[in-house]
Amino acid sequence: MQTQITIIGGGILGLSIAWGLARAGKDVVVVDEGDQAFRASRGNFGLVWVQGKGHGMHQYAKWTRQSATLWPELSRELEETTGVQLEYSQKGGVDFCLSDTEAEERVNMLNGIRSGLAGDYPFEYLDHSQLKKLIPEIGPTVTGATWTDMDGHVNPLYLLRALYAGFLANGGKVINNQTVSHIEKRQSGFSVSAGITIESEKVVLCAGLGNKSLGPMVGMNVPVMPNRGHIMVCERVAPFMTYPSVQIRQVGEGVVQIGDSKEDVGLNDGTSTNVLANIARRAIKIYPLLAHLRTVRSWAALRVMSPDGFPIYQQSTTHPGAFVVTCHSGITLAAAHALLLSQWIAADVQPNNLESFSGDRFSI
Ligand SMILES: Cc1cc2nc3c(=O)[nH]c(=O)nc-3n(C[C@H](O)[C@H](O)[C@H](O)COP(=O)(O)OP(=O)(O)OC[C@H]3O[C@@H](n4cnc5c(N)ncnc54)[C@H](O)[C@@H]3O)c2cc1C
Repeated sequence: MQTQITIIGGGILGLSIAWGLARAGKDVVVVDEGDQAFRASRGNFGLVWVQGKGHGMHQYAKWTRQSATLWPELSRELEETTGVQLEYSQKGGVDFCLSDTEAEERVNMLNGIRSGLAGDYPFEYLDHSQLKKLIPEIGPTVTGATWTDMDGHVNPLYLLRALYAGFLANGGKVINNQTVSHIEKRQSGFSVSAGITIESEKVVLCAGLGNKSLGPMVGMNVPVMPNRGHIMVCERVAPFMTYPSVQIRQVGEGVVQIGDSKEDVGLNDGTSTNVLANIARRAIKIYPLLAHLRTVRSWAALRVMSPDGFPIYQQSTTHPGAFVVTCHSGITLAAAHALLLSQWIAADVQPNNLESFSGDRFSI
């Protein structure tokens, strides 16, 4: 099989880039391992989230803001061209604090990001009584929350479905349930072995945790590692939550989702009752009315983390034409990946500061 660009991985990153490339008229094949792989894109929380992103790397804070700004354009185009409604809303978000220490640390962190962006970072801290006016349902032990109008959320599965449909409608091809085992550099381009052989001018590694073993095949170090997160889903209730938070959100159909755990447990995506109990306790402190809701399901999934938590975007110097794209906030960054990074891969139009995200920072 021959194509211009092979994308390895059909998660949110692979499909965002693939959609952008096919929309720009490129001939693209996506190859995906299927359900036997770890697939963060099918188990995430769906936030389009800016606050707190980029502490320690202002280029990442800027990139996240840029993506959040492009999100309305992405969602409009996807909904119009595919008919899939994304349940997207970006009216702002809160991050709750349950102690003075937590509040102080959060505000210091956001102030640090703000100064890295020369003040261009709108957020405010709301104490308990200010927050109570905005969100009357909060519990008495909530100290306060940070608030920005930059944040929002989306149904991540509908996003995946829309990108997939849009990609196919633009002539893209998907090969499912095939694992890429080998990538070879040819005189011009690459040969990718995945059950069948795909020959292409360029190859893009978007394989999530799979990038770790694929990277060295094209001369790149991609030291990604897993970090487990749990999500708990409660029964449907009448809408009461106006703003999503990193801890809790109410999705389009009225379902309440809870989940902000982070654990380093290797390649284990099983659930733990203790972790679920902890996230439920914290959620009930924030919104006491949740204590009356029944849970209907829960799951755990593995985040794709680089050692410093920031994305890795890189073209191989030893294998030009081979790219890696990986990050831990693929929903938030979907708009930047679809609309900007795809142009870098297609036509070498490089977004500002892209070199800061090279994986070479881990080799020094
Ligand atoms: C619990 C949890 C909550 C999260 N919440 C948010 C959130 O609120 N907002 C946000 O922005 N982000 C969130 N994330 C992060 C987000 O889900 C990830 O950034 C994103 O899904 C990563 O997408 P990906 O395409 O890189 O990886 P994946 O979704 O893991 O996809 C990789 C794909 O590559 C394929 N693959 C792997 N190896 C091979 C191979 N050798 N050959 C062929 N195919 C291969 C797999 O089949 C898989 O489909 C969360 C993640 C988790 C786990």
